[in-house]
Amino acid sequence: MELHKLTLLEAFQGLRDKKFTSHQLTEACFEQIKKYDDKIKAYLTLNEAEAYTQADAADQKIAKGESLHPLEGIPVAIKDIFCTTNLRTTSASKILENYVPPFDATVVKILREAGAVILGKTNLDEFAMGGSTENSGFWPTSNPWDYSRVPGGSSGGSAAAVAADMGFYSLGTDTGGSIREPASFCGISGLKVSYGRVSRYGVMAMTSSLDTIGPFGKNVADIAMIMEYLAGPDSKDATTPPVVVDNYSEEIKQDIKGLKIGLPKEYFVEGMDEGVRQTVLNAAKKFEELGAEVIDISLPHTDLAVAAYYVICPSEVSSNMARFDGMRYGLSKRDGKDLLDIYLDSRREGFGAEVKRRIMIGTYALSAGYYDAYYKKAMQVRTLVRQDFEEAYKQVDIILTPVAPAPAYKLGEKIGDPLAMYLEDVFTIPASLAGLCGLSIPAGLVSELPVGIQLLGKRFDEKTILRAGHQFQLATDYHLAKPELK
Ligand code: GLN
Repeated sequence: MELHKLTLLEAFQGLRDKKFTSHQLTEACFEQIKKYDDKIKAYLTLNEAEAYTQADAADQKIAKGESLHPLEGIPVAIKDIFCTTNLRTTSASKILENYVPPFDATVVKILREAGAVILGKTNLDEFAMGGSTENSGFWPTSNPWDYSRVPGGSSGGSAAAVAADMGFYSLGTDTGGSIREPASFCGISGLKVSYGRVSRYGVMAMTSSLDTIGPFGKNVADIAMIMEYLAGPDSKDATTPPVVVDNYSEEIKQDIKGLKIGLPKEYFVEGMDEGVRQTVLNAAKKFEELGAEVIDISLPHTDLAVAAYYVICPSEVSSNMARFDGMRYGLSKRDGKDLLDIYLDSRREGFGAEVKRRIMIGTYALSAGYYDAYYKKAMQVRTLVRQDFEEAYKQVDIILTPVAPAPAYKLGEKIGDPLAMYLEDVFTIPASLAGLCGLSIPAGLVSELPVGIQLLGKRFDEKTILRAGHQFQLATDYHLAKPELK
């Protein structure tokens, strides 16, 4: 049996029924990593010794006949922006190259307490700034479907790991598209949760008013199950309100007869890939066959969202990056003559080009005299974008859109052109500005590359997009397509 190819739920059932052990599941993942990860480069750090200890602990429980947590003994990959004790956490930045956090992020703690097997930490764009995983301070990750292409970003390592069966599921973060876009490019399922649905404590902040974290999985049913454990309030994160966590695994079983799905005309723009457009329209037809009603809607301020995001994000970045001063964490260059030299030398050497670009833009936008013209204006646009969605959700239950304008592009193709890279986020950023949840699921191949569709839900209404996504996967087999690894 090819254990690495199982879904999370299949792995759990097999463990419980003693068809195989957690040790074997872990071995299957590491074998896959050893075979392919020197080409894909999804992982920054492996956690092999501890992973086997965790696996053996799960196996002992099973041997004793104790009941199993659904995540227990199952190997997971974690984006290297989540703090993990005893395990290097770099955020793919040279400034944190040797940083080992003294605490676990809340979600990591949840996984550890459940008995999950942590395989290692995955690559990303430095501090999650980017859309291709090429901004990593260490190396770019390749797309498992075509090694000459990007896996998407910023959570590209986490997406590539699951797509290549080097982990049963993984964790990522999504500020402006960083889970949805790589899920689409790598042909897997990924959920961006509503702002505040999952604790961000211990996850390094990029844009605090937008950052969210969420899972990648081989299908929606797996994601629904994971979410039951990740979601909920955390006393350590004041942005997580006490909203009831739904029983997602049960909710997704209901059919979608009568569900109203909006198709916003602003998401079918000139210049987008024809194959992508067709993929989304085919999915809309499929939803109709399943009993949903597809309704044309308008989100009129969509075209302003990217510009507003690229003011708000750098502004918050400039503030969040201030803590990396060469004194408290990571890299500290002390050859200069005074304190200022330590700051300047450490940050000059530690940060990559995109991080520096955003610090510069953000510092400018927030400076006296410019604040009203840039930051305040961007926040006003953000309100308009949010209001568009509020209006739309009076008519529809969820919204269906493309994830990205085209399938995965070539490594190096856009890296020299930050604006072209920013425009890749046109379809993911608006929902981020509005704090909504979004699910990206495979919906077909275009030029032999996977293409996803995006389902956007109201804030805290993860259950409805998960249900639509699961019902879609029950009726189609796009999510079963796998890359041929070489
Ligand atoms: N590509 C977007 C950016 O560069 C989104 C990144 C993210 O969601 N972390 O900011």
